[in-house]
Amino acid sequence: MKNYNIALLKGDGIGPEIVDSAVRVLETVGKKHEIAFTFTPYLIGGAAIDACGEPLPQATVEGCLQADSVLLGAVGGPKWDTLPGHLRPEKALLGIRAAMGLFTNLRPAKLYPALKGECPLREDIVANGFDIMLVRELTGGIYFGERGYREGKYGEEAYDTEAYSRMEIERIVRVALETARKRNKKLTSIDKANVLETSRLWRKIVHELAAEYPDVEVTDMLVDNAAMQLVRNPSQFDVLVTSNMFGDILSDEASQITGSIGMLPSASLNDGKRGLYEPIHGSAPDIAGQNKANPIATILSAAMMLLYAFDEKEAAESIVAAVDGVLEAGYRTADLAHGAPALTTTEMTEKIIQAI
Ligand code: NAD
Repeated sequence: MKNYNIALLKGDGIGPEIVDSAVRVLETVGKKHEIAFTFTPYLIGGAAIDACGEPLPQATVEGCLQADSVLLGAVGGPKWDTLPGHLRPEKALLGIRAAMGLFTNLRPAKLYPALKGECPLREDIVANGFDIMLVRELTGGIYFGERGYREGKYGEEAYDTEAYSRMEIERIVRVALETARKRNKKLTSIDKANVLETSRLWRKIVHELAAEYPDVEVTDMLVDNAAMQLVRNPSQFDVLVTSNMFGDILSDEASQITGSIGMLPSASLNDGKRGLYEPIHGSAPDIAGQNKANPIATILSAAMMLLYAFDEKEAAESIVAAVDGVLEAGYRTADLAHGAPALTTTEMTEKIIQAI
């Protein structure tokens, strides 16, 4: 029997509740598909600050590097909001991404037929639903470029620079092409090639690599148009690939048009199999400890882990199908119930476990 070692970073707020749900779902699916998991918890975020005075202890970094994969809940909360920047829980997120060399961020944005009513877009626009995978470059570009303050033509000025190497572009575009190949074989590369040199290099490399993937239909789109098309006609997209900053903005736009923050998983990957899987939402301190959180984003993050880290496609599909079935049957946690009676976190987890 295969055995995977998973580092658990429960974090703060609703983090422990939703990670516990995902662990129970993984154990259930593991029994069905003959996969064993060894879970080892490590401290991160506010919980780590409280226990050892720093948001990302060395033991956590080492544990994540040794594990086959990492499942993260969320970090942060008002208790730690007044600490200096280097001691903030969110600092741990950048730290663990850097330590694991996670250069790819995969953010699916899917509109579930059962949740069409949550979508803020007009009914006719989303009549066909949508299922988008946004591939964002995570460790390069303007967020990591040279920056500073200087005396400019008009006095004090600040600057940030965007630089992308061929290597950085090639590796992320390849991930996107491979991802498209596993889905509907359509890739849209988003840039600002009418203005930026980095985008012109990006586009050139996309075209070079596209020639190696004749089965994938590759198109370019300017970022301003992409922002518009996401709300005008989201069902035209399959896989999107873009730079760090454009991806930061577009991934939030894409998640918002699904209308359900508690449903969306994500994966951050390096060039090995190892990766970090987490819901896109935060620690929701307003509902922490109340057994009210929607565990589905974290459960679907665990499904992404099965697919991307372990190539356990059938087990991943079992989870996704169970979630679909539970939603189709009308079960909702409070975030999606609009005041109607709602399931607790544990009840929703139980429903999904029963459906597996
Ligand atoms: P949030 O995502 O935590 O919450 C926004 C709203 O959505 C809240 O009303 C919350 O109750 C609700 N919500 C979020 N997830 C939910 C779920 N699974 N089920 C039901 N409702 C859910 O964002 P925020 O309030 O801006 O941030 C709270 C804290 O989380 C802050 O400290 C922030 O820094 C941190 N944060 C952490 C991460 C992360 O760990 N990756 C990401 C974003 C924010």
